[in-house]
Amino acid sequence: MSIIVQKFGGTSVADTKRIMAVAKKAIREYKAGHQVVVTVSAMAGETDRLLNLANEIDPAGAPRERDMLASTGEQVSIALTAMAIEKLGASAISFTGPQIDMRTDDGFTKAKIRSINDAVIRKELDEGKIVVIAGFQGQTDEQEITTLGRGGSDTTAVALAAVLGAERCDIYTDVDGVYSADPRIVPNVKKIPALAYEEMLEMASSGAKVLHTRAVQFAAKYQVPIQVLSSFEDKPGTMIMQEVQEMEDVVVSAITHSMKDAKVTLSKIADKPGMAAAAFQLLADRNINVDLIVQNVGKEGLADISFTVERADLPYIQKLEKELLQLVAAQEILYDPKIAKISAIGVGMKTHAGIAARMFSTLAAKDINILMISTSEIKVSCVIDQDYTELAVRALCEEFGLVDEQVSA
Ligand code: ASP
Ligand code: MG
Repeated sequence: MSIIVQKFGGTSVADTKRIMAVAKKAIREYKAGHQVVVTVSAMAGETDRLLNLANEIDPAGAPRERDMLASTGEQVSIALTAMAIEKLGASAISFTGPQIDMRTDDGFTKAKIRSINDAVIRKELDEGKIVVIAGFQGQTDEQEITTLGRGGSDTTAVALAAVLGAERCDIYTDVDGVYSADPRIVPNVKKIPALAYEEMLEMASSGAKVLHTRAVQFAAKYQVPIQVLSSFEDKPGTMIMQEVQEMEDVVVSAITHSMKDAKVTLSKIADKPGMAAAAFQLLADRNINVDLIVQNVGKEGLADISFTVERADLPYIQKLEKELLQLVAAQEILYDPKIAKISAIGVGMKTHAGIAARMFSTLAAKDINILMISTSEIKVSCVIDQDYTELAVRALCEEFGLVDEQVSA
């Protein structure tokens, strides 16, 4: 018998009426002849509420206790969901993460899944039950409760689908699929029918906020087909799966933007071997992740290096400023926190040439200056002034055919 894993986010279980609707969806798949595993998040706003309580006492409180607290949200929603399924006449049983031995490392508040004991789940499925499992939580080897990081229920669902060899993992949410750009910026943007894992991973790491990044990594590794679809409307969503030939016909699948980065420039450093190594080793030692890096051509024995980091890391770099300047014999360090990274993503880039050039001309036509560039096999990213974010995203969506003609923006 095939297994379907369904995941419902916080808005889908926001109140008991919506929980009844979730129960109906689970029963529908069950009646269609599948074994069904349901993963739920905490009711909308609940995790925030709990963590705010923790912050009122101590924002830097023990991570173990934060997880003990935050994990309770999902315990409420699994019990209510199981009750709703039973009320509608099917049988169901709920389990917390520790009850199915969802084993994680001990990285409290951002733990990583190591293994799942599927025996308990399979036994209940074989007895004809719909099994409801708490998202976002697990336990360490020492039976300490952990959570998987905000948004982690997606990862629970995909990990369950992987270990159970599920036919599909359906992620029900408050949007009806994955769009080629943020619909708040491009109202007539197209929905994407199918995406390759690789594309979704690049999208997630370039600013798209659809799925927990680790969930996509899991799906890619274990080849779990994911469908992102609406909890409130009955229509097909977006399939995320292994690349198929047709995907390469679409040159660009998505335009993403991220405004969480800042640009740092080390100006007039000595143009000699070892300078970049020294600067970036210092940042690496402090756990500061660097994204794009550009070095200009040296003149008169001096060069500039610019790089981007997460804006939240700027204060840490400012602390290192003196050390950094000395280390590379730079004359000056400049900060630009007002940048945006715009990326064009598509597996079609593997077989189509000239995408970068089209991207640059489109930005030029709008008089948008490019500050930095980076490329990978399926992505071209440009750093620009943050003020031009919306203009750039809209222009690129039009250039690459990602908008519907009939509605005008
Ligand atoms: N309830 C958790 C959160 O709000 C996990 C999730 O919703 O995926 O982050
Ligand atoms: Mg979520």
